[in-house]
Amino acid sequence: MGKSIIALGEIENETLKSISLQLASKAAALAESSGVASAAVLLGRGANSFASAIAEAGPATVYTGDTDVYDAYLTQPAVDTLAALVSEQQPELLLIPDTSNGRDIGARLAARLNLPLEYHVNAIEFKDGVFIFGSAAFGGQMNITFTAAGSGTKVVIAGQNAFKAANHAGQTFQTITLAAPSIPTAGAKISGPFGTEYATEEGHLGQEDGKPQYIPPASRSNIEEASIIVSGGRGVGGPEGFALVDALAKALGGAVGASRPVTDDGWLPHRHHIGQTGHSVKPDVYLACGISGAVQHQAGMQTSKFIIAINKDKDAPIFTFCDLGIVGDLKVVIPELTQLVASRRS
Ligand SMILES: Cc1cc2nc3c(=O)[nH]c(=O)nc-3n(C[C@H](O)[C@H](O)[C@H](O)COP(=O)(O)OP(=O)(O)OC[C@H]3O[C@@H](n4cnc5c(N)ncnc54)[C@H](O)[C@@H]3O)c2cc1C
Repeated sequence: MGKSIIALGEIENETLKSISLQLASKAAALAESSGVASAAVLLGRGANSFASAIAEAGPATVYTGDTDVYDAYLTQPAVDTLAALVSEQQPELLLIPDTSNGRDIGARLAARLNLPLEYHVNAIEFKDGVFIFGSAAFGGQMNITFTAAGSGTKVVIAGQNAFKAANHAGQTFQTITLAAPSIPTAGAKISGPFGTEYATEEGHLGQEDGKPQYIPPASRSNIEEASIIVSGGRGVGGPEGFALVDALAKALGGAVGASRPVTDDGWLPHRHHIGQTGHSVKPDVYLACGISGAVQHQAGMQTSKFIIAINKDKDAPIFTFCDLGIVGDLKVVIPELTQLVASRRS
């Protein structure tokens, strides 16, 4: 028997998904019935702030990795962290949410550590010294019951609402901070299932919840540290338009920011959101492209040292507080500016 039962939670858009509490509760209940320790793991921005919420579901220990590195759709950093944790803690079961992210993480982790893996688990009980699992099969037409052969950690991917969230409010728990893996940089060699893989450093059009999303590379995603930010708003027109914004950020050696509608609509990941309800930034240069300059946006960038605005509407509020304003179509202005910067730099 392993030493514990651990549940992985999931943070999306800086919100704790409800399945996290369900799996954490199940981990705690199974740990109690099998006489081992229980824990939950939270990876991503906001993890520390959700530690007590997940502990109220039952686990006595909450491992947190409160850093942006997990927030991009990068499976590898989460797998690196979990692989280290599993190797150290030797849990009997690792419960993982049955979500797109969770399935990828579970599969890669199981392959990496050569662990058994089961999907779509909807029941687990500990009876007569063994764990008995239930899972839907044949498109949900049958339910199968099984036990796990062999020793070592079993990776169990369990679905939304398979288990009920319990309430153990007020119980004591400990939080343990996990060491964060670094984001792979350009040309970095990283280990993958097929051996060595090379990390690329380009932004690209990916997907989020089945909709296109522009994903800038890690090196242009750290808006809080950047001295130059090129930010795009609704005027950019859609996720595809952010290739222009990203190209200018790349030429300037800056990061990519966004107004809230951009991240709310999924055109860019939430970590790029600037404003009252997003990140507050203070770069040397803030370049706002297709951003009207609403007070809520202004609240997150007004202390920038030099603000440049590109907007086709000469009456846009941003022109009342920028240092340099360009009235024009960003689809024309940005490529010209990018070319100019690139040629000056070379
Ligand atoms: C409680 C609350 C909190 C909020 N928090 C935030 C926050 O944290 N951050 C935030 O950003 N917003 C926040 N908002 C939303 C905010 O009020 C605005 O709605 C938002 O900032 C507008 O985003 P935008 O400038 O991208 O879009 P819009 O206001 O739609 O402006 C788009 C601009 O693009 C220009 N444009 C269009 N096409 C082109 C083109 N081809 N070339 C050049 N210019 C073009 C238009 O002239 C326009 O000025 C919050 C709102 C509320 C109520």
